[in-house]
Amino acid sequence: MLMQKERELIVEYGKKMSSSGLCPGTSGNVSIYDPETGYMALSPSGIDYFATLPEDVVIMDLHANIVDGSRKPSSEWALHTEFYKHKPNARAVVHTHSVYCTTFAVLGLPLQAVHYVIGDAGAREIPCAPYETFGTIELAQAAMKVCGESDAVLLGNHGIVVCGKSISSAFSLARNCEYIAQLQYQAMCIGKPNVISGAQMDEVMEKFKSYGQPGSGKKGY
Ligand code: 13P
Ligand code: ZN
Repeated sequence: MLMQKERELIVEYGKKMSSSGLCPGTSGNVSIYDPETGYMALSPSGIDYFATLPEDVVIMDLHANIVDGSRKPSSEWALHTEFYKHKPNARAVVHTHSVYCTTFAVLGLPLQAVHYVIGDAGAREIPCAPYETFGTIELAQAAMKVCGESDAVLLGNHGIVVCGKSISSAFSLARNCEYIAQLQYQAMCIGKPNVISGAQMDEVMEKFKSYGQPGSGKKGY
């Protein structure tokens, strides 16, 4: 089967997304991109993460063609291809409806530097795209339009989408965004959060370059 290893990773990380509470029901989707072939392995639409098998994963190119697989691909295939087309380092994309991120997406508010771990997104702020219908090109384009340098963007009244240089770093960023959103929400409930300054965040971003074990290539948590 084409992209067997990637298919297995999609199944594995789909279960992680579901069991970590980021994706209620069959919401959210995940993909992995291989720049050599130009193909992405994408989760199928509307199948329970714990019922998804490697053969259910759909292989597509970045021009909306299905290359392999008998299932209907995720309705958000355009959101995924948009990231791979415009973010040259993206090798995986994770979309979730995680509750605290979506709370800010409902308000149309960005996630701010209330905690330095936001640097994991490569930006000082995670912007929010205006509302567009799910599963449309318009949604994909709206997300990319406001994304800027950030590897993460909130989708108005919908959720969040993030990319990473691997499936593990994209999943980790999705979890970190949810952590920041929860902190920001809780802090706003009882006061006015202090936001880390641009200069302080630049320092964090610099330190993230050498975070973790030498040679691990980790850019954040
Ligand atoms: P799919 O099941 O088609 O991936 O849709 C889930 C979703 O989150 C749509 O935005
Ligand atoms: Zn969605």
